[in-house]
Amino acid sequence: MNDFENGSIEDENILLSQGEVKKLKRKKGNQYCFWFKNDEPLITIGPHWPFPLFLIVILIFGTYYIGFIFYKSEILFRIVQSCSGLFLILSFIITALQNQGINYQSINATFLDNWCQICQMNKLKGTIHCKDCNICIRGYDHHCIWIGKCVGEGNQFAFNVFILAFLVFFVINYVLLLI
Ligand SMILES: [Zn+2]
Ligand SMILES: [Zn+2]
Repeated sequence: MNDFENGSIEDENILLSQGEVKKLKRKKGNQYCFWFKNDEPLITIGPHWPFPLFLIVILIFGTYYIGFIFYKSEILFRIVQSCSGLFLILSFIITALQNQGINYQSINATFLDNWCQICQMNKLKGTIHCKDCNICIRGYDHHCIWIGKCVGEGNQFAFNVFILAFLVFFVINYVLLLI
């Protein structure tokens, strides 16, 4: 009887080449995963990646254009405008790149009512399988095409900061326009 017929999970893993393991690790559901720490990715790129790419161009040109409107303004206005624009762009980039909370751990297989058939993993409370990302997301909030993937446990804080940055940017610039 050879190793394959013995058929344990470890044996199947050994049969995969290094390249194949790397490929499996990199593509989880419909996400591309990068920069691993303890086997979990810090960065993921979602299935709707062209949308955040489009939005980042709009944000960069939008904030630059608003900066251009104020080119004659006082230096203090320009500093406030630039900082609020930078805050907006950075918070967006972090939200779009941060791992949204991909469910990796098969913690306990006894709660079969909370078992994802597609991921073949147990789900903790608040974990939902996203059809677009095709993977379970811990602390699922919603799938946002503008960041290209889900808002979940991993990027919820960054997403909230981004919404705040968006409001701050428009309020500050609207006030600056009125002055
Ligand atoms: Zn799932
Ligand atoms: Zn999703």
